[in-house]
Amino acid sequence: LSSDRPGRIVMAVDMDYFYAQCEELRNPSFSGKPIVVGMYSGRTDISGAVATANYPARRYGVKSGIPLYRAKSMLKDTESLFVKADFDYYEEVSSRIMGILRSYSKLFVQVSIDEAFLDISGPVGGDYRKAEELAKEVKGRILKETRITCSVGVGPNKLIAKMACDSAKPNGLFVVRPDQVEAFLKDKPLDALYGVGGKTAERMKELGVKTVGELSSLSLYTLQKEFGRKLGEYFYLAARGIDEEPLEEKEREQLGRMLTLKEDTRDISQMMSSISEMARDLTKELASRSMAYRTVTVIVVDTELLHHSRSKSLRTKEVDLEVAIQVSRELLSEFFEQNPAVFARRLGLTLSSLSKWEGQKPISAYFK
Ligand SMILES: [Mg+2]
Repeated sequence: LSSDRPGRIVMAVDMDYFYAQCEELRNPSFSGKPIVVGMYSGRTDISGAVATANYPARRYGVKSGIPLYRAKSMLKDTESLFVKADFDYYEEVSSRIMGILRSYSKLFVQVSIDEAFLDISGPVGGDYRKAEELAKEVKGRILKETRITCSVGVGPNKLIAKMACDSAKPNGLFVVRPDQVEAFLKDKPLDALYGVGGKTAERMKELGVKTVGELSSLSLYTLQKEFGRKLGEYFYLAARGIDEEPLEEKEREQLGRMLTLKEDTRDISQMMSSISEMARDLTKELASRSMAYRTVTVIVVDTELLHHSRSKSLRTKEVDLEVAIQVSRELLSEFFEQNPAVFARRLGLTLSSLSKWEGQKPISAYFK
């Protein structure tokens, strides 16, 4: 069993209750009071679910995913603020934060709107004390420049950094050195391990284990028999804190847009007007950089805030707007056929597998 490369240090950064914190910023009179960011379905002013709540609201039991009317009744005796999620605003705050993070390491991966990993082995020369200093500096800069607090975890790999970050919430910093990994994991509940959800944890409990430490006593054979070859191996290694996956040094090899629909819908032609608009923006931007795409991905965010995506890779690179639109239409039709109960609330379009369009003129350009 190989261990992680010596000196490898990964930092996980996660904004605290991000959407609600963004709302605190522009509603300072509600500072310290409950703020609930909702996804309204639009049928009545209280239909919909909680996207994020700040800590004062959480103290009353409000949490992500519960119906808004329940949150309203939990907070009925407080001076609280309910707002509709404003993703354009959150994305703008996020891009400033990600810009700061990117400046600290070339090995940078953004995981979601408010979460990223940085491999800082190089910048701190494998020194955990320096890593801790750097983490403090990062937290300080984000706070100073955007007034947003975040939690930071530092560890020998993404798995441990992420778990360290989770245990630092909110507004904390937690460092797990390689020699502390075993003790750090020992008493953690099974679902603290990345990739272990409620159902998986139940199956593990049936095997007689309740903690990550106990999980590490199971053999590779047992885990693979129960969970399959790949997942079994993952749990075997993860229970020991081993995660060799590198942070890819990614160029920006995709271009994407998201937007919120005027109303929840399953009507493809209605969605296509939004898709066409995004496709036009994206192909224009690619053209200005002489780039072509090969993969088209449509993203559907449903009324429960779940993200679904469908992709298609083309055989040759493309620059054409009409191709992007046509492929998106096929992907959406297929998705909604397979998911008869899903309504789209937001839509996204991504063009990826980008490459230089080496001086060739797109064929379509000759016909315009
Ligand atoms: Mg967060």
